[in-house]
Amino acid sequence: MKQSMTLIPTLREIPSDAEIKSHQLLLRAGYIRQNASGIYSYMPLAKKVLQKVEAIVREEMDRAGAVELLMPALTPAELWQESKRWYSYGPELMRMKDRHDRDFVIGPTHEEVITSLVRDEVKSYKRLPLALYQIQTKFRDEQRPRFGLLRGREFIMKDAYSFHANHESLDEIYTKIFDAYSNVFRRCGLDFRAVIADSGAMGGKDTHEFMVLSDVGEDTIAYSDTSSFAANIEMAPVVVEYEKSNEQEFALEKVKTEGQKTIDEVSTYLNVEPSKCIKSLLFKVDESFVLVLVRGDHEVNDIKVKNLFDATVVELATPEETREIMNCSVGSLGPIQIAENIQVIADHAVKMIVNGVCGANEEDYHYIGVNPDRDFSINPQYADLRFIQVGDPSPDGEGTIVFARGIEVGHVFKLGTRYSEAMNAMFLDENGRNQPMIMGSYGIGVSRTMAAVVEQFNDENGIVWPVDLAPYKVHVIPVNNKNDSQRSLAENIYDQLQNNGIDVLFDDRAERPGVKFADSDLIGIPVRITVGKRAEEGIVELKVRSNGETLEVNTENLIETIRSFIVK
Ligand code: ATP
Ligand code: MG
Repeated sequence: MKQSMTLIPTLREIPSDAEIKSHQLLLRAGYIRQNASGIYSYMPLAKKVLQKVEAIVREEMDRAGAVELLMPALTPAELWQESKRWYSYGPELMRMKDRHDRDFVIGPTHEEVITSLVRDEVKSYKRLPLALYQIQTKFRDEQRPRFGLLRGREFIMKDAYSFHANHESLDEIYTKIFDAYSNVFRRCGLDFRAVIADSGAMGGKDTHEFMVLSDVGEDTIAYSDTSSFAANIEMAPVVVEYEKSNEQEFALEKVKTEGQKTIDEVSTYLNVEPSKCIKSLLFKVDESFVLVLVRGDHEVNDIKVKNLFDATVVELATPEETREIMNCSVGSLGPIQIAENIQVIADHAVKMIVNGVCGANEEDYHYIGVNPDRDFSINPQYADLRFIQVGDPSPDGEGTIVFARGIEVGHVFKLGTRYSEAMNAMFLDENGRNQPMIMGSYGIGVSRTMAAVVEQFNDENGIVWPVDLAPYKVHVIPVNNKNDSQRSLAENIYDQLQNNGIDVLFDDRAERPGVKFADSDLIGIPVRITVGKRAEEGIVELKVRSNGETLEVNTENLIETIRSFIVK
């Protein structure tokens, strides 16, 4: 492609509204332009990169046994009413009316549409399993569209759905698609982890998120420094084997702790380690109140509390509720001598505390010499209730936990029969019985993935595309366009590359060399061929964008040499 014939509107300045690298660089290098908040045009260079990402996605999905289709973006409200998401999705769902005043949804995801399609076409176990995918623009009226393509209101997603007659079949396809996703992100060159995620409101059980490690990510991941274990911090089990010290147990004693409320204050005041303090928090678990105990240096993980009780809603009791139930303030709570109808659960670490400290359920008093099981009882049980911490052993037994921030680029989950039951997607099993189909749902943020790659692949001069995603493989730049031998050699190289099927961008613009080089670095094409002073001798300079390596190459060996840099 001749640069004069395409549209690459590069900017010298960093756009003031772009906070993160990928947003800044995609704007500056002329890949995207914003049309409205969270809504972008993909300029010619971006379109080429998206096509590369999509090609990788298609190859891997096809290999996993999924088949591509394309559903409408505009979807009738009735389907969303059947699944009830019309009522529960909230303001993120883009709705519109047609000229007959009928309601429509501009699709944020396609469980409803695919379930209605499959229920109408598939009636027997003989047609299952089935895995279908599409690559399509999605619409979500995000509360905070930001970071350019990372969180848009209109974005490109690859979404896939699978339908099964039994759970074994779901497990099998889930694993295949999980592997396909790992391949996609590996081929995009990304440093990522597949993390065990919370299924939250989706109602599924098994779910993984694919997270690109990046400081600008919105999620925190706990992962092992040596193995592949990774989990959303909410989900990471704690497997520490706590030990009890053989200190002699003291008698329980109530002491005055005027004005001391937090663990920090109390531990300083009484001169004990926070790990000897018992942190007591009152939670409202659905309709009942539960006192949750963890060690002073630990934090309660409310998702674990929620899972322990299989509850729908878990939230901290308000100060008013606390006063009403426990007759004291939040900072004075403790497990000793409390009303029998209040359940007390504790993290495993609490059991091992000897001569600890806890609130006395009385303003300005704490107990010292607290020994669990002797001084209070746990009802119903000790459990893993705290957040994992940096330095904890990895739950898979290999290595130590470290934290990182992550950008979610993909998500796989087992939906079960949530949609098939609501929308009556049934099939006849081998025994002629009518059963709801078992489903899986799988998404990759294609446009977000492109931005995540830029987030990981850049330097002070611009984007540094991994070869497989680069919009062009080679950038040919004559230093001086007016010099006949430079221009004709550059044109000749351009033709040769094209004839050899190598995607090339030719800077034929009448710009100063400095501008051309700066633009070239900004755009980030892997190999640059500069045709300069030695053009008459048939010698050009090859520069590798990723490491700055340069070499002089004779045009006779040029194609071969270029190939060695762009073919792995
Ligand atoms: P997030 O937690 O980031 O909002 P999500 O859980 O809503 O993501 P899914 O519904 O699982 O996302 O969508 C599948 C994939 O689509 C995500 O893994 C992500 O890569 C991408 N995606 C979701 N929302 C956006 C968005 N607003 N802009 C760009 N990509 C998105
Ligand atoms: Mg979301």
